[in-house]
Amino acid sequence: MKKKIDIQDDYNKKLDLLKKYDHNYFNLDSPLVSDSKYDKLKRVLLSLEKRHKFLKKKISEVEKVGAPLTKKFKKIKHLKPMLSLSNVFNLKGMQDFVSKISNYLNVKNKQFEFSSELKIDGISASLIYENGVLTRGLSRGDGITGEDILANLKTIKEIPNKITDKNIPRILEIRGEVYIGKKDFKIINKNFANPRNAAGGSLRQKDYRETAKIPLRFFAYGFGVMEPMIFKTQSQFTQSLKKWGFIVNENNKVLKSLEQIELHQKDIEQIRSSLNYDIDGIVYKINDLDLQKRLGSTSSSPRWATAYKFSSEKAISKIKEITIQVGRTGAITPVAKIEPVNVGGVIVSNATLHNEDEINRKDIREGDMITIQRAGDVIPQVVSVDKSKRPNNSKPFRFPDKCLCGGSIKKEFNPQTKKLDAVKRCLKDYDCDYIAVEKLKHVVSKEAFNIDGLGKKVIDQFWKLKLIKKPSDIFRLNYSKIENLEGWGNLSCQNLAKAIDTAKNINLNRFIYSIGIRHIGQENAKILAQYFKTKEKFKDLYNSKKRIQILSDLKDLDGIGETQINSIDKFFQKKINIEIIDSFILELNILNHKDTNKTGKLSNKNIMFTGGFEKMSRSEAKTMTENLGGKVLGSISRKLDFLVVGESKPTKNKIIKAKGLRIKILTESEWYKILNI
Ligand code: NAD
Repeated sequence: MKKKIDIQDDYNKKLDLLKKYDHNYFNLDSPLVSDSKYDKLKRVLLSLEKRHKFLKKKISEVEKVGAPLTKKFKKIKHLKPMLSLSNVFNLKGMQDFVSKISNYLNVKNKQFEFSSELKIDGISASLIYENGVLTRGLSRGDGITGEDILANLKTIKEIPNKITDKNIPRILEIRGEVYIGKKDFKIINKNFANPRNAAGGSLRQKDYRETAKIPLRFFAYGFGVMEPMIFKTQSQFTQSLKKWGFIVNENNKVLKSLEQIELHQKDIEQIRSSLNYDIDGIVYKINDLDLQKRLGSTSSSPRWATAYKFSSEKAISKIKEITIQVGRTGAITPVAKIEPVNVGGVIVSNATLHNEDEINRKDIREGDMITIQRAGDVIPQVVSVDKSKRPNNSKPFRFPDKCLCGGSIKKEFNPQTKKLDAVKRCLKDYDCDYIAVEKLKHVVSKEAFNIDGLGKKVIDQFWKLKLIKKPSDIFRLNYSKIENLEGWGNLSCQNLAKAIDTAKNINLNRFIYSIGIRHIGQENAKILAQYFKTKEKFKDLYNSKKRIQILSDLKDLDGIGETQINSIDKFFQKKINIEIIDSFILELNILNHKDTNKTGKLSNKNIMFTGGFEKMSRSEAKTMTENLGGKVLGSISRKLDFLVVGESKPTKNKIIKAKGLRIKILTESEWYKILNI
């Protein structure tokens, strides 16, 4: 069993992390993690508190609202705490919410009336009107104390400075959501992950004139303090909001049963992506204000309301268009361009459709309403199509028969599966612009040249400006041009130049990997570097006669198969590839491959394995051989010194062939003796 001190330690560490996430999200509007990751951590902490009572303070640290306030604004205590909302994710959660209310009020089978309001994903604000005049404007802050952002709030046109109505309560606190419309977000967005972060960042500017530059908007939905109280229901109150000059969401309505709630939830989810503002669920509030008063609040949320949230992994949207993307190896991937939708804090506007067969199997068409899923950091995928919503004039999608470069595309025959591949590919290489730019991204990737400051986005930028067309251009950049680009300056140029200069010195294996020959990954590149040793020998691949000999040698290397050999051959058959690689090599200082261990027991010995071993895997046997200075070959030839035969299913033919060539055959136990195990 875990000790108390260890549990406390684990809890404290997790809590510190949660607080860090809160600060970044609420104060800096720059989340460090996705909402689902954040919510998961919160759930773990709450379950720890539940299981180990000694962890929980009087008020749970985990359930606190917002984050401690920074010094940016004057702090003002709220007249009434501005809390968060409890949340549910399915009908069962909603049923539990209603049961809890019934139990609290000690009533059975009561049909409650709910005011349903779209949950706008923005920043909440409190506006105090004294005799109809706006005198105070606060952010939610930590729920108890808010930040004085009156000047900033006054820049928002949809917030009235004065309410002219005879029946206006003397003190009236209006609460609502400051947000940015999706279209405006597209225009102003620079570094924000979603409209909510953009609204937060823009609203809480130290200088309100900066806030004024952003088209912020405001939906009113609630009240804090109201003296005198003049309403009986939440819906009556929202009606008056309109009269007083506020904007109230047009989709709000009163619902009377869980069935109605479930239907409404589904309806809104359908139109969610077409709304011009981001929502992450629907808030259901007990409509009767007397009941609201009786129900009161916990330390973090009112008991009379809950947010029925949309999934943080799935969402419904509409396919605007199906396009194709071309990968580094020419693979053509169809992509659905969808109406942007917020999935767990990330705005998704593309979903992969994998390949032509997948489109046909699911019969995915332009104009379709689809459910997409984004789990973890994987690319969003289409899970299902709602065919009932399909427009009458919809037509099956016709997969293009050309690459974006205009070149032909084809499914290749896979000798292993003896079938055609599912993926279509562009038959070109560096001569297809779309492939070339992806290849450049591969060149600078972490496992290849790993150049600081030269990532995928910069490659795209430089490509569009024609600053880079081929790998050698990376080493001949025109810095005087770059210096004048937006986001670049003298210092960043100097740093980039330095990073590129350092990257010029590269090991042969990394270089081979970087040029992006299909089927040549990092491991294969290492094997090839071991064979070629120098760039000069590697360059022999340019020559078709020499290439035949090299490819025949490569057959013997363990790990290099027919697929790799054919791919290398195909790559060097193209003149343009040779030209590009040659000019690339000229810019570099490629370091010769050095064998690390040549002096072991198996020094200069060529070994091959067949069958499985009891004490080790094939990979371990290979590593052990190499550590002892030996080399593992992939086929039987005269070069072989030993064929090691494992007891589990060895290939008979190999043994016969080896015997024919008088190659020494080692049994499994003889092999272990060599290894001293
Ligand atoms: P919340 O956003 O889930 O709900 C409360 C808020 O809903 C209110 O403060 C109000 O601003 C808003 N709201 C919109 N319409 C409303 C209406 N009609 N009536 C009442 N309120 C309405 O809760 P929260 O405490 O602000 O934030 C918690 C959420 O923030 C979680 O979903 C969590 O995932 C996310 N979060 C993420 C990170 C991260 O790092 N990714 C960090 C902290 C919080």
